[in-house]
Amino acid sequence: MNKDTGESTLPEKNIASRSIEPPLEDMAGIALESANVGIWIMDPSTLKFLPSKRTKELFGFLPEEDMSFEDAMLKVADKYRRSVVQAIENAFNKKSSLYIEYPVIVVSDQKQRWLSVTGGFSSSTVSDSYFSGIIMDITEQKQSDLRRSKFIGMVSHELKTPLTALKAYVQMLNNWAKKQKDNFSIGALSKVDKQVRKMLNMINSLLNLSSAEAGKIHLNKNNFQLDLLIKEVVEETLFITSTHPIAISSCASVNVNADREKIEQVLVNLLSNAAKYSDKNAEIEIGCSLSDNHVEVNVKDQGLGVAPADIEKLFLPHYRVESKETEKIAGFGIGLYLCAEIINRHNGKIWVESEPGKGSNFKFTLPVS
Ligand code: ADP
Repeated sequence: MNKDTGESTLPEKNIASRSIEPPLEDMAGIALESANVGIWIMDPSTLKFLPSKRTKELFGFLPEEDMSFEDAMLKVADKYRRSVVQAIENAFNKKSSLYIEYPVIVVSDQKQRWLSVTGGFSSSTVSDSYFSGIIMDITEQKQSDLRRSKFIGMVSHELKTPLTALKAYVQMLNNWAKKQKDNFSIGALSKVDKQVRKMLNMINSLLNLSSAEAGKIHLNKNNFQLDLLIKEVVEETLFITSTHPIAISSCASVNVNADREKIEQVLVNLLSNAAKYSDKNAEIEIGCSLSDNHVEVNVKDQGLGVAPADIEKLFLPHYRVESKETEKIAGFGIGLYLCAEIINRHNGKIWVESEPGKGSNFKFTLPVS
């Protein structure tokens, strides 16, 4: 307040009295940079890439240095580069929005820095459209996720040993009850067996989550027949979850070189999701088809389906669709993340074709030799 005139000297007053206001885009840019958020723009026709100063910093470049899209991709940790490029190409081809998380190796601080990237198109016509978005440093959040998942890994490991012993004893008792023709015990033990198997599946997921988040999924590859594994998993799923009929559509005999236990987990996750997210008794279909260099497996349900905005995030850790229908369905949001990690580690692809209310068709490929 000015003592003599009684007028306010606050800066807003001065700004308000300016005749020219800065454009909204500039102000948004300044606000984002001050919040340590990087901005980038890409011209889809020329592939010209324009990063802001903060974006360059996040990739380990100096603000005055040039940074092309290829330069940025070279900083992405080797294991993630392929899936990052794939996600960007996918967003480009489908003109859809983008959300990815990945680590970059920044030599100056000798550390992995985790980034999250969002992107979208400015208009639906190709000619005048720009692909742009923001980049954020999410290293701290990732480190705390890592500490949590290490703990989960340790606990699950401890839980697995007694549960495996329990499973073996239940099977022994079941054999004994069969010899004695004790129908009551046979029925009760079969129920215990189902629950123990469900728990073992959950524990295996938690164990794999902890190795996936540490970037250490270890593959124990062997040659096996995928069509036989599919049959086994369908039988096991029908035993544990008898609420939905499962039909095996065409599935030719096919040999793959892969980690049998982990592919089994992918199939178990996809089939149990198909049952979880569709009405009781609605049929689930599983099939596989062979092409030149890969086999494609698909798990189709007639359930809730997934909205386009959720599709791209479905395979991220802990992502769950929030809706009236899903709020009563229990889950941790890690099943699909694990499926994606396992399939990517096998150099395969995983995706979903779905529409809300019209069911989902989850598909994955595996290379065949
Ligand atoms: P969870 O089922 O434990 O929540 P997932 O990672 O397996 O975790 O799935 C992530 C989310 O994807 C689920 O919360 C659900 O909203 C959605 N989803 C997965 N499978 C299906 C499906 N077959 N149909 C509809 N939505 C699905």
